[in-house]
Amino acid sequence: MARAAVPGRLSWRVARLAEARAETATARTLVFDVPGWPGHLAGQHVDVRLTADDGYTAQRSYSLAAPADGAHVELTVQDVPDGEVSSYLTEGLSVGDPVEIRGPVGGWFVWRPADTAPVLLVAGGSGIVPLMAMVRARRQAGSRTPFRLVYSVRTPADRYYAAELRRADPGLDVAYVYTREVPEGWSRPPGRLTVADLNSGGWPADFAPDCFVCGPTGFVETAADILLALGHDARKIKTERFGPTGG
Ligand SMILES: Cc1cc2nc3c(=O)[nH]c(=O)nc-3n(C[C@H](O)[C@H](O)[C@H](O)COP(=O)(O)OP(=O)(O)OC[C@H]3O[C@@H](n4cnc5c(N)ncnc54)[C@H](O)[C@@H]3O)c2cc1C
Repeated sequence: MARAAVPGRLSWRVARLAEARAETATARTLVFDVPGWPGHLAGQHVDVRLTADDGYTAQRSYSLAAPADGAHVELTVQDVPDGEVSSYLTEGLSVGDPVEIRGPVGGWFVWRPADTAPVLLVAGGSGIVPLMAMVRARRQAGSRTPFRLVYSVRTPADRYYAAELRRADPGLDVAYVYTREVPEGWSRPPGRLTVADLNSGGWPADFAPDCFVCGPTGFVETAADILLALGHDARKIKTERFGPTGG
């Protein structure tokens, strides 16, 4: 698998959609068959390229949602209103249809099951995708590394992987932050991520956790600033920005 992170070896491969499932009303998980896939690490992403009949192409990056599993590559895509690529992947692509995939990309925003430091995952919206790959890689490896996930979403209906995250996973603690609408009986009022959320849902800085923060640019900047204010070492904070804040 180390081979997978070596730059200069990436070429476009044909990927056929093998399975698709709705994650929320606006997000879809896509499982592709990619013959010859070299494997990947949790946290890496791929480039997806679409080609129209007239030869026009568009490509975007998407995080790998699950650890390596033979020729299977799993992504979860949020439909961005008027989005050129995301709308096609969430609504237009049918089982059996091809796209092109290049990767895996990125060797820094990754978690390896051999890593033993406690882990803090901070996700905003679709930023949960590469962090879920880490949660799944931990489970697949039978790792006992303690994980905490703080996951910010607009409403309960916007949670990805809700049933899977609800299942007891010893050593994994999950805390939700709802920004617009909370479940009945939820004591925290809706609102954006605060110091208190990362103080209660994260690890004390003294524990020197590896922190992975992913989501829209504004969310990532806020979360990283809070972690620094809480005393976390900047070298232990790894970030991945998906794009605009989306309001
Ligand atoms: C490393 C990396 C990993 C990523 N992983 C994922 C992933 O796992 N799942 C996922 O759904 N997306 C992911 N993204 C975002 C993805 O690459 C696209 O930016 C997104 O799907 C929108 O592309 P589009 O062609 O549909 O929209 P475009 O046609 O490019 O844009 C349409 C409109 O939406 C706005 N917009 C563009 N991107 C975003 C965004 N991310 N959020 C809000 N508004 C936006 C644009 O400003 C524009 O107004 C990742 C991005 C990066 C850089």
